[in-house]
Amino acid sequence: MSKKEVIILDASAFISGFDPLSVHQTQYTVPAVKNELIPGSLPWIRLITASEGGRLRIQQPKSKVVRKIEEVSKTVGDLRVLSDADKQILALAFELKKAREDPSIITDDYSMQNVASKLGVKFSALMTLGIRYRFQWIIYCPACHRKFPGDVRDKSCSICGTILKRKPVDKVQV
Ligand SMILES: [Zn+2]
Repeated sequence: MSKKEVIILDASAFISGFDPLSVHQTQYTVPAVKNELIPGSLPWIRLITASEGGRLRIQQPKSKVVRKIEEVSKTVGDLRVLSDADKQILALAFELKKAREDPSIITDDYSMQNVASKLGVKFSALMTLGIRYRFQWIIYCPACHRKFPGDVRDKSCSICGTILKRKPVDKVQV
């Protein structure tokens, strides 16, 4: 018997206009993704509608699996750029794989792709869902709010020393 193919969606999929009703696979996302979307916004409405209609499952991964993801991310040097939502998504994918499903994470984020490879979890880009938008990322300091280019190599803020964070700034058509 073949494994069940499932896809796991991050916030960028919903923000980019992906409609969960447009694909046949079982879809998952995590509570942190729902929390990243603005209540009442179109992406939020798409998520809620699909969830209530039974097309999308919002599932919290086990915290011990999230800790495993943090360890693996550290070994590949990507921990600092992963948000809570990213870690939950990776953890959920890993859990589903262990549960003998065939999960694929939909993401354009290189750090997530990197960690997914390390975990032996499949991933594909937003384009595979027909999504025409990509994100530009910005690295910012959560303490002094200074912004840095998306390719900055420093892990901490050059002004105050706080560990930098990352967020999508805008969507750009490709
Ligand atoms: Zn700073």
